[in-house]
Amino acid sequence: MKKYSSSYLHSLSIQNYLRLMAKELDDNGFRKEWIDGTTTYSHFAENMIKAENAIRGGQGNPTYSFVQTLDYPAIKLLIDLGILNNGRCPICGAHTSGAQYLWTARNDTRREFHICKGCMHTRGGGTGQGNGMPGGCASLFLLLLALSIVLVGSIGYGIFSLFA
Ligand SMILES: [Zn+2]
Repeated sequence: MKKYSSSYLHSLSIQNYLRLMAKELDDNGFRKEWIDGTTTYSHFAENMIKAENAIRGGQGNPTYSFVQTLDYPAIKLLIDLGILNNGRCPICGAHTSGAQYLWTARNDTRREFHICKGCMHTRGGGTGQGNGMPGGCASLFLLLLALSIVLVGSIGYGIFSLFA
């Protein structure tokens, strides 16, 4: 018996869907390696939402960036709870048609979850195919871009302070 139903997942906003993933990972003792140490998944998820909101004016969908960072045990937990592979695409939030379309990590084919037909076309891949790389690079780029904005902002402020 899965803890979460498909209809419950679809009742959530995409950001609350991500927060649910993060909360369950936290509650089950999972922690995320982050830039300078270890953090909770909730903290990691909030940073991801903020970064994507900053870059895309709130139009972003951070769940894809989130789920593709998950290792196999984390994906397995989310599947067991009914958060992944339960009728909702973690990339766009649309309905999925079972295991017909899968996202599979290139570096570990156990890291696999259901996505919708539309996302299979836009993100590439499909059943049994490795397609973790392009999205991974894109999200890494987005995160680096967000960090650069913050960094340039603080350096700019520092220089301004010197002359003020
Ligand atoms: Zn989708």
